[in-house]
Amino acid sequence: MPDGPRFYQKKSLGQNFLTDRRVLSRIIARADLAPEDVLLEIGPGQGVLTRELLASPCAFVHSVEIDRGLEPFLADLPLRHPERFALHWGDALLFDYPSLDPAPLKVVANLPYNVTTPLLWRLLELLPTASEYIVMVQKEAAERLIAPPRTKARYPLGVTLEIMGHAQIVLSVPPSAFRPSPKVDSAVLRITLSGSHSHLPRNMLWRELLRRGFAQRRKKLSNNLKNWRPDIPWSERLQEGGIGENARAEELSASQWIALLGTLKPE
Ligand code: SAM
Repeated sequence: MPDGPRFYQKKSLGQNFLTDRRVLSRIIARADLAPEDVLLEIGPGQGVLTRELLASPCAFVHSVEIDRGLEPFLADLPLRHPERFALHWGDALLFDYPSLDPAPLKVVANLPYNVTTPLLWRLLELLPTASEYIVMVQKEAAERLIAPPRTKARYPLGVTLEIMGHAQIVLSVPPSAFRPSPKVDSAVLRITLSGSHSHLPRNMLWRELLRRGFAQRRKKLSNNLKNWRPDIPWSERLQEGGIGENARAEELSASQWIALLGTLKPE
């Protein structure tokens, strides 16, 4: 019988805790932690990854956790590392990231899978200091995030990441690495942001253009856009952006989306 507090995992919060030590050490190796690194972890859970982050030479770790029921597993960490660890209780989807001091430079986390997309959008919007993400996500989510043009998995956040930097899968992780085991495969993604187009996630016209463009994937892009803004002469705009009249949203390269956005900007 393992010692320690009793805890019943909440499925609704994606509480599948990592138990495979080899996977853990591979994540740490992929994160390539250095003394200047200020880290943000979303969802420390029972602290298995948090403890490894704190055992690295990194300068500081911020962890944001929603479930107060996990406090008994995490309570010793602020006492052990008063100078280089801060535990923040709250919803990562609503968290005030600009208030974090020191400002995080890297995100290293085993994310709650049910909120991967809105969480990554929020981090990209509010945490411009972070230029690297090493994050465990559901395998299908990882595939969407790296999907190239003309693939079914292509979607707005993936297009945005392609423009902002580079995303790649650096580790595949089976369900058996977690307790309880999820029904899905997982993957660790490395996202490196180049610093270009860092304003895009905060640009509501960009977000809406992609959202509406991808709204009904089987329809032509021009039809989706006409439904959104019938006042805009989309055929001309697509032509200006070098995009064919019959194109579907998934076919566009990231630079074609940027060109299309450019045609919408006020003169
Ligand atoms: N890092 C731990 C590990 O690797 O074992 C736990 C990872 S578990 C997949 C996801 C964690 O995120 C859980 O601890 C869960 O309570 C937390 N979580 C879920 N939704 C959250 C939210 N909106 N804000 C902050 N934490 C959240």
